[in-house]
Amino acid sequence: MIYLNDELVPKNKALISVFDHGFLYGDGIYETLRAYNGVVFRFDEHLERLFRSAFMISLTIPKTSEEIKQAVYETMKANRQEDAVIRISISRGAGPIGLDPDLCPKPTFVIMSGEFKEYPKQYYQKGIKIAIVNTRRNFKDALNPQIKSLNFLNNILAKIEAKDRGAYEAVMMNYREYVAEGTISNIFFVKDKALCTPAVDVGILDGITRRIIIDAAKEAGIDVKEGRFRKEDLYNAQEVFISNTTMEVMPVGEIDDIKIGTKPGRITKALHSAYKKKVAEYIRQCRLHIK
Ligand code: PLP
Repeated sequence: MIYLNDELVPKNKALISVFDHGFLYGDGIYETLRAYNGVVFRFDEHLERLFRSAFMISLTIPKTSEEIKQAVYETMKANRQEDAVIRISISRGAGPIGLDPDLCPKPTFVIMSGEFKEYPKQYYQKGIKIAIVNTRRNFKDALNPQIKSLNFLNNILAKIEAKDRGAYEAVMMNYREYVAEGTISNIFFVKDKALCTPAVDVGILDGITRRIIIDAAKEAGIDVKEGRFRKEDLYNAQEVFISNTTMEVMPVGEIDDIKIGTKPGRITKALHSAYKKKVAEYIRQCRLHIK
């Protein structure tokens, strides 16, 4: 079942207009969330980011946070899902051809939830291959990567390059050749025992997983550097990993044919365990709250 506007409808009846400006112009925003054991992890942070994205494109979300939460849980329940990947998409809505947002009186609101499928184990055991691509991350004063928008062509072009090179994920530089982020992930590396990751003002999405990892690292006494890094910093790193809501902490074994390690590094492993602990604790707290 799909939640479309104000109701749950079967998948084959979940249809939207060809005049939807999400389809015509990529005019809209979205969030991807993950539920563990029936609990949506860090729901508030995802909703805050959803509302921030909406604000940044002058879109009024037609529901409150509480209403969205309820609708998400209803959708998961209708699909009998406990471990799920949820996507909330909101487009400008249907309207005549033309860019003016006022042409669209009503945003289109969609929730999709699918069973979470584990990534292949070997990705975590051996690390994935990533490629530093020629496509630059959107210049933040043109289309700020902090807007989680439906307009994903920048990322798709990078993904195509990565695929052509046999890599699972691309890493984009910003327009000044500083490491930015992946197509659907943030990037981290370890150098001289410090955990390094591009600063948000390089022009990246401030991933919710990224923030949790930074907090976990600080709690473990690991030095964290959010800054500006060059691709050589990645090539020379002792450990590299990427992060997002569904992958959590995914080790990188190879960048542009340069081997980083045949196994995930010590800090990568420790941070993934710390992340899993935070998930377990969050679920426990939510369940206590529900009781
Ligand atoms: N960067 C980009 C471009 C993304 O699309 C995503 C997630 O989809 C991320 C980073 C990671 O964000 P999060 O950890 O909130 O899933």
